Amino acid sequence: MKRIAFAVIAAACACGCVQNEDEPLKMITEATFPPYEFMRGQEIVGIDVEICRVVAQKLGKGFKCENVDFDSVIPAVISGKADVAAAGITVTDDRKKNVDFSIPYVTTGIVVVYSKNNPYTSTEQLKGKRIGVQGGTTSENYVLEQLGQEPERSRSPAEAVAALKAGRVDFVIADIDPAKNCIKGESDLSLSDFITSEDYAVAIRKGRPELLKAIDETISEIKADGRLAKWIAEYTAEADRLKDK
Ligand code: GLN
Repeated sequence: MKRIAFAVIAAACACGCVQNEDEPLKMITEATFPPYEFMRGQEIVGIDVEICRVVAQKLGKGFKCENVDFDSVIPAVISGKADVAAAGITVTDDRKKNVDFSIPYVTTGIVVVYSKNNPYTSTEQLKGKRIGVQGGTTSENYVLEQLGQEPERSRSPAEAVAALKAGRVDFVIADIDPAKNCIKGESDLSLSDFITSEDYAVAIRKGRPELLKAIDETISEIKADGRLAKWIAEYTAEADRLKDK
């Protein structure tokens, strides 16, 4: 009898409808975003991975992490392919229509990456220029909505910065932490001050209050006990060392 009930739950889970207690917590991310997520050889590591691992522990579950393009991260939790999306995801009103967000764990923003021989002075100067961004991000939205133009889309902040170095774009807009990592060791590149203020949070499918509670508790705890600050320092240093190689 027990075995039949288990088989039914497992079958339901395969189509993403019902969560099986024995399933690991599945995190979905996009690992080109140091220090929040990046590749250490074959392994996905970073601040967001640590946060979600603690959530899994709190729920008494195993843990799995998968890497996809940024614009597939939120769709993966909506479809039930993953439980938690953590990828330096900015809380926006548009995204809130489709997913629930945890409490924020970091307040940050986007900056302009520029070449010192074409110094950045103000956002006015960006109008009509070729602006590189990572596709699907708030940087893309900034170019579309604030500048009213089409950006040049890349698959990662590093790819966008490579286009800047090659002269294929005039400026890049990206989140400050991956941008800092990208310009490390590049003496001819620099960063502006913040042009937005954004909060990062973990996104989940709507209607999972217990999971949301576990994530919120985790974030409160790791902020209060210093783990979050420690991970930020450690993973920033590790990503910078990888960039030096
Ligand atoms: N914070 C940005 C956003 O949510 C970029 C995130 C990312 O590229 N991983 O759109």
